[in-house]
Amino acid sequence: MKFSIISDAFQKMEATSKRLELTDILVELIKEIPEDVISKAVYLIQGKLRPNFEGVELGIAEKLVMKAMSKSSGIPLKKIEEDYNKGGDLGQTAENILQQKIQTTFLSETITLERVYETLLKISNLEGKGSQEMKMRYVSSILNDATPQEAKFILKILLGTLRLGIAENTVMDALAIAFTGEKENREVIENAYNVSSDLGKVAQVVSTGGIEQIRKFQIQLFNPIRPMLADRIKSGEETVKKFQNDFAAEYKLDGERAQIHKQKDTIMIFSRSLENITSYYPDIVEKISKLIISDDVILEAEVVAMNTNSGDFLPFQELMHRRRKYEIDEAVTKYPITVNFFDVLFSNGKNCMEMEYMERRKLLEKIIKEDDFARLIPMSIINNEEQILEVLENSINSGCEGLMLKHLNSTYRAGIRGSNWLKLKREYQNDLGDSLDLVVIGAFFGKGRRTGKYGTLLLATYNDEEDVFPSICKVGTGFSDESLDQLYQILSPKVTLKKNPRIISDMAADMWFEPELVIEIVASEITQSPIHKTASDKIKENTGLALRFPKFTGKIRTEKNAEDASTDEEVIALYKVQKKTVNQK
Ligand code: ATP
Repeated sequence: MKFSIISDAFQKMEATSKRLELTDILVELIKEIPEDVISKAVYLIQGKLRPNFEGVELGIAEKLVMKAMSKSSGIPLKKIEEDYNKGGDLGQTAENILQQKIQTTFLSETITLERVYETLLKISNLEGKGSQEMKMRYVSSILNDATPQEAKFILKILLGTLRLGIAENTVMDALAIAFTGEKENREVIENAYNVSSDLGKVAQVVSTGGIEQIRKFQIQLFNPIRPMLADRIKSGEETVKKFQNDFAAEYKLDGERAQIHKQKDTIMIFSRSLENITSYYPDIVEKISKLIISDDVILEAEVVAMNTNSGDFLPFQELMHRRRKYEIDEAVTKYPITVNFFDVLFSNGKNCMEMEYMERRKLLEKIIKEDDFARLIPMSIINNEEQILEVLENSINSGCEGLMLKHLNSTYRAGIRGSNWLKLKREYQNDLGDSLDLVVIGAFFGKGRRTGKYGTLLLATYNDEEDVFPSICKVGTGFSDESLDQLYQILSPKVTLKKNPRIISDMAADMWFEPELVIEIVASEITQSPIHKTASDKIKENTGLALRFPKFTGKIRTEKNAEDASTDEEVIALYKVQKKTVNQK
């Protein structure tokens, strides 16, 4: 398939930000893509080569790309650098430069999607000695044959700067319309995506087998399942009202969620955002097989750092010491963990997600042979407020964050945040203390002891309808010297020259970042705001919602993607509850 079909569609997409128009362009494009390359095309549309969980990293030094451009265009490097410094986007520079190409290649080949994909894959696989030279050769070879517009988009994909505003939801809508003729079928497609986390694979199945085949889509070991998530709840009273009947109360441990896949002795572990984190936990890989009585299994657990002397759970931050590439053995000894199981999604060839909570819990109790390293999360079945308070107190006393309250008849709903699971944290009982996970989008320079660091951060929620990040507050309190340093290190590589188009903010920040990092914030109140953009126009025209007296809790949520941050809907829900509470006083 000619790559120009894709790049023409990208060009049109760049010119619009309306979701409906984007979907229409995408539908037309998808209809033109042959079955055998649909998965590759779907990855490229999302600016990647493989599903996220495979961790295939694209990327190349900008200098190298500029050299390749100079080589294939005959235009001096200096001129290329000038163009780049003016605009700040190397893809755009490639288009500008190739339009003025001095050297013409006589036998330029038509570029195909297959060639672009394979070249990018080769580049991503290169490492070590001589790899820079090879990368440059691949880039200049493709630039020799590319039209200026094709070059622009190939480089944007390679550099990770392709931003067409196409969220996963838009791709799923487009797949449903293109292959089944009905947008309503998106739900079936989404179910398949929720159990595979691989839109390329889903696209391939629906393109070859239509809606019938996608309905039969099966869980596959080592393809992570998108996690089921909980709604917040503020009090035991509210829980009893919601559930009416008996429900399960489990301790909510403060660690890292781990989805553990096991087939015989092969183990793979995925994080909450479905990153493959197996290498951080060699102790799980070594010990867990013997403790699980099932050949093929997918389990969910909370991994928690432990003080082995006192037996106490340690806070989430302790686990971050495990996030390293080298000397992991030392970290394993220095920062011991326990694995605390709470769910089973697949066992011995059987999908368990359709089973009700109690059935799954019983199965889990059968499968796990508990010891000091592997345990089941404590659970009790209760039905009133008094019991909730008792279990909550016990959980807090053992170093947990609060409770997870689960409906006894609920099935496992992958990828869905819903009211069958509720989370009750201690701080929620305080009217003013809800925590939110917000995306760092900008910063203001620091003064005094913060000189040379980011003194104040600009934060955003995630608006999942429009796939954008609207600002909600500035935060300048709660930072220790250590956390200021840490944030500076993480954020400096994310600085962009221009504000990313997915950021919605009228503020004039000193710095803008790629919207990627998520941090935890508490605040005293949610107020209406003429400046901030969260839930804009939803409560009142020309007005958004903002946080009053926001404070950083010290938690950098590296296990979350920006799209996992608190949404506008969640903030609206908190705002409404807060208003009700105030009115009742
Ligand atoms: P939070 O910010 O509260 O950690 P989250 O957005 O990561 O929340 P939620 O569904 O809102 O996800 O809260 C559930 C999280 O709590 C899970 O992702 C998991 O890491 C953790 N957890 C701890 N104990 C349990 C438990 N018993 N059952 C389910 N999840 C648990």
